[in-house]
Amino acid sequence: MSQSSHKYSLTARIFIGMIAGIIIGALLQFIFDDSGDLRFSIFSVEVSTYSILVEGIFSTLGQIFISSLKMLVVPLVFVSLICGTSNLSDPSKLGRLGAKSISLYILTTAIAVSIAIVAALAVAPGEGVNMPEENYVPKEAPSLSQVIIDLFPTNPINAMAEGNMLQIIVFAILLGVSMAMTGDAGKRLSAFFEDVNTVIMRLVTIIMNLAPYGVFVLMAKLFATTGLDKIIALAWYFGLVFIVLLLHGIVTYSVILKVFSGLNPITLFKKMRDAALFAFSTSSSSATLPVTMETARNKLGVGKSVSSFTLPLGATINMDGTAIMQGVATVFIAQVYAVDLTLGDYVMVVLTATLASVGTAGVPGVGLIMLAMVLQQVGLPVDGIALIIGVDRLLDMTRTAVNITGDCTVACIIAKSEGELDQAKFDDPDAGVKEEDVDFEHFDRNA
Ligand code: ASP
Repeated sequence: MSQSSHKYSLTARIFIGMIAGIIIGALLQFIFDDSGDLRFSIFSVEVSTYSILVEGIFSTLGQIFISSLKMLVVPLVFVSLICGTSNLSDPSKLGRLGAKSISLYILTTAIAVSIAIVAALAVAPGEGVNMPEENYVPKEAPSLSQVIIDLFPTNPINAMAEGNMLQIIVFAILLGVSMAMTGDAGKRLSAFFEDVNTVIMRLVTIIMNLAPYGVFVLMAKLFATTGLDKIIALAWYFGLVFIVLLLHGIVTYSVILKVFSGLNPITLFKKMRDAALFAFSTSSSSATLPVTMETARNKLGVGKSVSSFTLPLGATINMDGTAIMQGVATVFIAQVYAVDLTLGDYVMVVLTATLASVGTAGVPGVGLIMLAMVLQQVGLPVDGIALIIGVDRLLDMTRTAVNITGDCTVACIIAKSEGELDQAKFDDPDAGVKEEDVDFEHFDRNA
């Protein structure tokens, strides 16, 4: 399983898997029509080949890959947060970490949605687009007070069974803090969780080594089934969201990282490549969390107590890419329906899109459901979502990569400010690249 036995780095292999998947998927889409029949009679391939490949092999293996990532999320968040909090010598640190993380997450998200609105007003992607014909039935968005009440689990086992990340975070912090306050019994339990954490991180790297194949099947399935014709019809909207995502991902994060921590953004971006490719192919911050944590700890040198708290929180509440889509989409829908929004409305969009992205779960497509909340707030027809739903999948992939890059940027800033960033690891281009460089036995305890 060692990566050093491969000629290419893991990043290169994931990238090759992705490109190969896109090519094979696009070819299948070209050869077969929507119902899976051959478009050209010159090919003597059985019709069922399409369904065997796409619905059978690609779909099944892709699901297994995503499930294996997701399977690690709940244990990883729970155990690593307990390890992070049970070792805190200074209890006020937890409050400080929380305050810093939440303020930075909200700041970056508000910047993201503001850039999105300004760009959408300048480009006006909705001019000349026709109203949707299909009826979109929105799901009810939860109220703010309910969101706050729901932070606290009535039953932690249920929270874990449902994968309710915020509730798991609250429970793990309370348990970890209690362990820190319980003397010998707390120490023994904490040592047990340290060992579990070490073993789970080993499993993360095993699954990461299978990523080139996982990414290949996911991309092949997606590109065999997604029509590119919809993107052409909504090219302005699609292109604009894409450009603002890139702009925010590259420029905003570089500036914020440099200003708040003095760290080199290029180093951060280079080290984020694997995690970004995972996010891109899974469209889920939550499923990518094990890889994000591995990257932050082993490649970026973010200490344990910061990474185990900041990253699960970020994967759950920090969705800058999602807020960008919501900002552009709101202006776009207003333009299509010829509704004039006032300055007050735009301020409201910034506020609600920030909140909506906080409430967006880190799984595929939820950002679009939460868009309903933003549209309702400024009196726009929620049906407008039907307009953009067709191109959302590819944008979802890109915004998820931005979402997790934002999480790691904030984690680095906080680690630096807390004196918990291993600068030598951050600067070392090879840190965490080879599996044998990762000290599984000790990196947790030394972090
Ligand atoms: N897929 C996104 C994520 O997991 C959420 C969304 O925007 O739908 O980060």
